[in-house]
Amino acid sequence: MAEVGEKSRIAIVGGGLVGALAACFFAKRGHRVVIYEYRSDIRMEKSRGQSINLALSFRGREALKAIGLEDILVNRHGTCMRGRMLHDKDGNLKEVLYDSVRRNCIYSVNRRYLNVVLLDAAEKYPEVQLNFNRKLVDADLENGKMKFLNTNTGTTEDAEADLIIGADGAHSKVRKIMTRRPLFNCAQTYIEHGYVEISVPRKEDNEFAMSGNNLHIWPRGEFMMTSLPNEDRTFTGNLFAPFRVFEKLKTPEALVRFYTEHFPDLLQLIGKEKLVKQFFEKEPQTLISIKCKPYHVGKTAVLVGDAAHAMVPFYAQGMNTGFEDILVLDELMELYDSDFAKVLSKFSELRCDEGHAICDLAMYNYLEMRDLVTRKSFLFRKFLDKILYTLIPNSWIPLYFAVQFTRLSFRECIAHKEWQDKVLRMSVLCLGFLIFAVLAVPLLRNAI
Ligand SMILES: Cc1cc2nc3c(=O)[nH]c(=O)nc-3n(C[C@H](O)[C@H](O)[C@H](O)COP(=O)(O)OP(=O)(O)OC[C@H]3O[C@@H](n4cnc5c(N)ncnc54)[C@H](O)[C@@H]3O)c2cc1C
Repeated sequence: MAEVGEKSRIAIVGGGLVGALAACFFAKRGHRVVIYEYRSDIRMEKSRGQSINLALSFRGREALKAIGLEDILVNRHGTCMRGRMLHDKDGNLKEVLYDSVRRNCIYSVNRRYLNVVLLDAAEKYPEVQLNFNRKLVDADLENGKMKFLNTNTGTTEDAEADLIIGADGAHSKVRKIMTRRPLFNCAQTYIEHGYVEISVPRKEDNEFAMSGNNLHIWPRGEFMMTSLPNEDRTFTGNLFAPFRVFEKLKTPEALVRFYTEHFPDLLQLIGKEKLVKQFFEKEPQTLISIKCKPYHVGKTAVLVGDAAHAMVPFYAQGMNTGFEDILVLDELMELYDSDFAKVLSKFSELRCDEGHAICDLAMYNYLEMRDLVTRKSFLFRKFLDKILYTLIPNSWIPLYFAVQFTRLSFRECIAHKEWQDKVLRMSVLCLGFLIFAVLAVPLLRNAI
């Protein structure tokens, strides 16, 4: 094992978005990093048709900035989304800006491209070695020992490291191994809803078929469609719905009827044939939320990204929170001079509660996106938020703004919303009382 302050051997299990980013940060500090990734090198694969895009916001951007990748990913290849565009059944549109005061936007970035850029960046460090087709099958986390299946040869390989970083996603093997340990708590929840990816082509003149600077939503109560713009002027969208709704969409006719009734404007943009082809290409995917604690084992292993806190995608914070994990880990490495025992325990202390908070917020936002956004009370609340945020932007920070455009802890974001709700409730009560008094006093006077 390396001594405190010495350059250590870091094994990163999973070369997805968060694993590749972590490699850059640790290599930048001079540590020797090996990424073990189950899949083959995505940079060698041909892209499979349409590719899912992700919304990148402040927390993620800050991490990319620290390794010099913000410009290429955001300014050169990101598509700015300045707010939600709500589509009702009659095709009427309503834009709700994310930040009407400072005009911040979130950026739609192609997931594959992002992963390619991060792997390329990691590989540029001489300290980094990339091992693809390696599946972690077992590990002794306390002693830094791992067993990988080489999926090319079918053989098992042993490896050792001073620190094992579990960045192996929602169904993490590292996390499963941690569950054998006493006092490790883990809860997983599959929501009743799944999703199918549906893309919207560009127009004949190669322009966007809808506004290219919005995240489009078709809220329909218990289900919804969303759509994010791509650099090539197409949109990648998802139908999110309960599985019992998907059960009723087993034939092309049923599907077209469903879209004609609920998303007629979209149907026109996609076309029946393309809709049917895309929809039946894959089974609806599940959505899982994971809360676990602690995130670390002594000074030898730690979970980051979805492995630590997979969440439903409705706050668009899964990757952003995972990127922020790495930023926090790096800040702690600086603070404790790479003393893993201190770094990892502090990381758990800071991030577990954060992970749980954003998982809860993500669940709440599903309700907001598919249902609440259509309600007058919600729109009125947004209106009040907008006025107060315009008047006192440093004190009145709306929840969505705080999550997407600051690095305020998620718990603080929730606390802000709670006191704001209280203030607004009290104000409405006082206003009601005042109106009552103004109307009632003259009546009482007349009566006397
Ligand atoms: C529909 C949808 C939309 C989303 N939209 C957004 C969004 O807009 N914004 C946002 O911030 N987040 C979004 N997310 C969440 C985001 O995709 C994840 O949070 C992010 O991909 C997590 O990155 P990760 O590196 O932790 O995990 P992953 O991206 O899952 O990578 C894990 C890697 O580990 C590898 N692996 C797995 N098991 C092993 C093993 N045993 N051995 C070795 N390697 C292994 C996998 O092959 C994979 O490459 C969305 C998620 C979904 C499902």
